[in-house]
Amino acid sequence: MPESDAMTAQPPDITPFFGLRPAPSASSPRDVRPGVSGLSPESMLAWAKEHGLPAYRAKQVLDAVWRGRQEAFADILTLPGPVRGQLAEALRFDTMTETEVRITDGGLTEKAVHRLSDGLLVESVLMHYPAREGARERHTLCISSQAGCAVGCPFCATGELGMERDLETAEIVDQVRHAQRRLAANGQHLTNVVYMGMGEPLLNLDRVLESIEALNDPDRFGLGARHITVSTSGVVPGIRRLTALGPQFTLAISIHAARNPLRDVLVPLNRRWPVEEVVAAAREHAEATGRRVTYELTMIEGINDTDADADALAELLRGDLAHVNLIPMNQVAHTPWTGSPIPVVERYAERVRAAGIAVTIRFNRGTEIGAACGQLAAEHAGQPTPAVVQRRRERIVSQSAAALRGERSDEPGPALNAGEANA
Ligand code: SAH
Ligand code: SF4
Repeated sequence: MPESDAMTAQPPDITPFFGLRPAPSASSPRDVRPGVSGLSPESMLAWAKEHGLPAYRAKQVLDAVWRGRQEAFADILTLPGPVRGQLAEALRFDTMTETEVRITDGGLTEKAVHRLSDGLLVESVLMHYPAREGARERHTLCISSQAGCAVGCPFCATGELGMERDLETAEIVDQVRHAQRRLAANGQHLTNVVYMGMGEPLLNLDRVLESIEALNDPDRFGLGARHITVSTSGVVPGIRRLTALGPQFTLAISIHAARNPLRDVLVPLNRRWPVEEVVAAAREHAEATGRRVTYELTMIEGINDTDADADALAELLRGDLAHVNLIPMNQVAHTPWTGSPIPVVERYAERVRAAGIAVTIRFNRGTEIGAACGQLAAEHAGQPTPAVVQRRRERIVSQSAAALRGERSDEPGPALNAGEANA
């Protein structure tokens, strides 16, 4: 092989990180030009002014970004050629350099893997729900807020990858623009957005709030706040900050276990903000906003699906403005656990309902292509060595065995920087 081919066949430089596997491909420097979809109308107007352009040029750009079918500034034919060139020099029309879509469930689920300017991969999942008696058709997109995640829940493919970096506002929003373009081609519209993809949204809260503002703004994406859900593993200062902002969107809490020893293992952030504090913050949120909080519970066979777990959850949430979603765990590589069988999920649901709490059982969509977010990115990341997998399995088994005996972990929670902890 000539030397140059041998060079290109080398794997890219790998940035060290805290997860189980090497980063898929943080291989090139980041593009420093801001993504246009992350700009507010005021910033776009200021940009036009700075470049000696009349205000209506800014409006033409935003119309193309939010309503048009264009895929580059070069396609905005209402703009003079030199302006298109200026825009492309200063800004990115799309922050995704490449997008691969896999379709499953007979066309009902579309899983997209997006490549960012520095080569990192993030995922979004588009789920179609056909019209049923009384209910109109829905198209829900699950989006990522970070590349990777620092929280490290052991049943989550993203947690296994470790933390890479926060997404920029436009990188969050462009996942939505991509899905909308695919829907528009069939005369359809996105009806719901859920921040349940890769990453912990409340640890990237400034960018997440900017992205919600863009989605919510009638002059930009125009999606009603009631159609947006943000899910958190329990970043208490972030929940309080949302409460102070007033009713914005639906808040979902990934609870997974009502008892601290087990939740310490399932959601390592619990060692920093224990479950009672998380529920207290969520309760305040519900009371202050009048909006019901959703609790997500991923059900793992023999781990968090027992009668005692159901009773502990019922006790914790009794009397709250709450709704519980039970989701059998999607199988994830290198985790020794499996999802709870349906009869076990139903029994758990009955016990919680008996305490007067609303419960819905959700069966996973797109399991066959790994629709639990992070799974496709993990696939791209390549395999960890068998010894690493073995060590991780042993650690998960011993930690959960101790938790099931009621022992609390003395390991510290995930390392967050000071800004994040005070989010
Ligand atoms: N970090 C945030 C949002 C992203 S995760 C959070 O944890 O809430 C979104 C949801 O997917 C969470 O409720 C998470 O527990 C769930 N999830 C992750 N891996 C899963 C798996 N293997 N099977 C089922 N649900 C999973
Ligand atoms: Fe992060 Fe959420 Fe996955 Fe936990 S479940 S590792 S918080 S993305």
